[in-house]
Amino acid sequence: MSTLIMKFGGTSVGMTMGLTQLLSIVLYERERWERLMLVVSALDGVTDQLIEAAHLALLNNRRGYRRIVATLRTRHLALIEHLPLGITERNALQADIDRLLFDMLDTCQNIPDNLSEAAKPEAIDRIISTGERLAARIVAALLRQNNLRGVAIDATDVIITDDVFGNATPILPLTRERIATNLLPLLNRGIIPVITGFIGATESGQPTTLGRGGSDYTASIVGVCSDAQEVWVWTDVDGMMTADPREVPSARVIPLLSYNEVAEMAYFGARILHSRMIIPLRDGRIPLRVRNVFKPQQPGTLVHTNTTPTGFKAVTTIQGLGLSAQHSGPLYNVAALVNERLSTITGSSTDVMFSSQSASQSFACFVIPTNAGPDALHDLQNSLATPLSQLDEPTPWTSRPVSVVTVVGSRLGEDHGLTARLLETLAGMRVYALAQGPANASFSVVVEPEDAEATVLGIHELIIASG
Ligand code: ADP
Ligand code: ASP
Ligand code: MG
Repeated sequence: MSTLIMKFGGTSVGMTMGLTQLLSIVLYERERWERLMLVVSALDGVTDQLIEAAHLALLNNRRGYRRIVATLRTRHLALIEHLPLGITERNALQADIDRLLFDMLDTCQNIPDNLSEAAKPEAIDRIISTGERLAARIVAALLRQNNLRGVAIDATDVIITDDVFGNATPILPLTRERIATNLLPLLNRGIIPVITGFIGATESGQPTTLGRGGSDYTASIVGVCSDAQEVWVWTDVDGMMTADPREVPSARVIPLLSYNEVAEMAYFGARILHSRMIIPLRDGRIPLRVRNVFKPQQPGTLVHTNTTPTGFKAVTTIQGLGLSAQHSGPLYNVAALVNERLSTITGSSTDVMFSSQSASQSFACFVIPTNAGPDALHDLQNSLATPLSQLDEPTPWTSRPVSVVTVVGSRLGEDHGLTARLLETLAGMRVYALAQGPANASFSVVVEPEDAEATVLGIHELIIASG
């Protein structure tokens, strides 16, 4: 049975034009595949608003979160107002939207005043899962209106995760069982499940989320656990590009990439894909396509091999932190120290993804994964602001932001000419550290934040010239 999983991101479902495109893509692909499953994100910007509402609810700011709920209601109702829906479908959808927002309001109102720090992430997840639930209902109604058998599915019934709220990891054998029980019978009846991205639930049914941008991860997990032939991510750019086109206007689409290259791009800050989605696809040998929802005639990027030709493919950038000792005293084992602080902040075993210490040991820099959460970097900076008393000889230090620019490609260390040209492009930059990633698939440079843009542009020119 040929099965295709298609994930539509926030920009695709967030406006009428995107939804119209989604519909025509589904109508077209339905003729080509025996089974289709869709995964949808919340409308763009909605998760940010929900996170704000959740924080206001934790502060017991009733006015604040009610205002956000009212804004969300207006936005969703305005969107469905512009969709070609019949009166019955529209009324039912409107009732669904109101019910979901009412439930969310109820959750906000029922947060106890004395909620412990440890219990907060769980409460936040319950609130922010509303965005994807709303979007899935809108998309399913649109399909039904067009004689497709769309059914909205809450991933809390399907994606079973651990209990790391805010950054949960799906448990594959349990998820596979749930998909077999809950989704395969629907597929056999010609139904197109419209699954909420980003969210899951623990075995005992508590809602969890998979980290920001997590709908990509949902699509990958659904693909692997249903033995799909392909997973397609529909987004607002032409595919995986040589750089973020918002930062580098001359960025070009890369037609073919290896799983390792894409994993490295996502890990080192290319926001286009969730960093944890690639490994399950690679292990399951499931091809991934990244395509532009507004230009479905273009092939986009295909990711399906373990190796591609040697060379630089793309440049990414990410924010990090640097620590400087104020005196010449050493910083001791900074990576272990930061790992420990980070685990406390994120409540999970999030590890520093990159660290480097100067030979004099008076400067160390490190980068934490983006899925540690938007506030983790800031919290970490605060937490490291004071010297640690448990150190034998506490060293006063300062922390400040740094940027990490990473060039991704295949067998990078093997072409010495290329490495030499990369180093030439760094002339004049204040470079704090250089590091080659594992498997020769990336090379990272730590620079001053104000040098990041010039470094990205310089490396991008090199990619284009050598490509
Ligand atoms: P979606 O809502 O579809 O999930 P995202 O905003 O998460 O979309 O990801 C798409 C965005 O990723 C693009 O608009 C682009 O600005 C950004 N991006 C970052 N790096 C890259 C890259 N190397 N290639 C393409 N897009 C990139
Ligand atoms: N809506 C979620 C987010 O904004 C998940 C996603 O968009 O993939 O992070
Ligand atoms: Mg995304």
